Amino acid sequence: MSFIELKDLNFTYTTDDGEAIYHVLHDLNLTIEEGEFVAIVGRNGSGKSTLAKHFNALLLPTTGSITIDGMNTLDEEKIWDIRSTCGMVFQNPDNQLVSSIVEDDVAFGPENLGVPSAEIRTRVDEALKAVGMYEHRKKGPHLLSGGQKQRVAIAGVLAMSPKCIVFDEPTAMLDPKGRTEIMQILKQLHKDGKTIILITHFMEEAAQADRLVIMYKGRITAQGSPKEIFAQDSILDTNNIERPFAAELAKRLRDKGIDLPNDIYTEDELETYLR
Ligand code: ADP
Repeated sequence: MSFIELKDLNFTYTTDDGEAIYHVLHDLNLTIEEGEFVAIVGRNGSGKSTLAKHFNALLLPTTGSITIDGMNTLDEEKIWDIRSTCGMVFQNPDNQLVSSIVEDDVAFGPENLGVPSAEIRTRVDEALKAVGMYEHRKKGPHLLSGGQKQRVAIAGVLAMSPKCIVFDEPTAMLDPKGRTEIMQILKQLHKDGKTIILITHFMEEAAQADRLVIMYKGRITAQGSPKEIFAQDSILDTNNIERPFAAELAKRLRDKGIDLPNDIYTEDELETYLR
């Protein structure tokens, strides 16, 4: 059995009285292995955030199923195990920080999970060090930049020792420096063995994943390595997806006869070849 398995998953938003409003996710079948780094991309409204919330049981399938490390999200008894296995980082860091001191914020998750206090201390320190925020641990989150707040939010998830972290547009509200920092942390967590699921509309970020999953109108329409996906104009066109800027530029330079490999996705890679 794979670490994460979606089987014929459908999801319909309903009103509080159960009246169906909108059938968003259609027959999703997907498997993710432990330790993989998967990016989910697709135009706005394709259902990415709705899917993301299924990975830690914030939303439950209307029909079909999703299992996380063998646990079915429809099994109510497993809900806390699922949430501590698969943590979530959202777009807006301000909505994720609840305490007036950084380290208290990071402790919030493990406290809720009932982790013994001596272990909480160790986990909080380790999590803050992992995101480079240890020296800011006594500060109020309001004194931090957007990128720093997002790092604290990631530390809060790390302190719960999840096997998997789902990032839903984690850099969308950050400046380029903050974006780069978050991507570096994300890649380090992947190297450390965490399963990473990244939802992003920055193709340069998506291109750093092992695998891209493309969504269009609530369906998974394509999957493959960045190299496979970005090489196929038809996939990009039908799903309304752009190549990373550096990849587009590299392609135009190749068309003009400049000898460049066809797997350049980031500006840094392009720069290395043009030096
Ligand atoms: P994405 O993350 O790809 O932009 P979403 O999952 O946010 O897509 O949204 C998919 C569709 O579901 C959109 O058409 C959106 O308007 C709709 N939607 C999102 N949240 C709700 C909700 N709470 N109730 C009804 N429809 C919703």
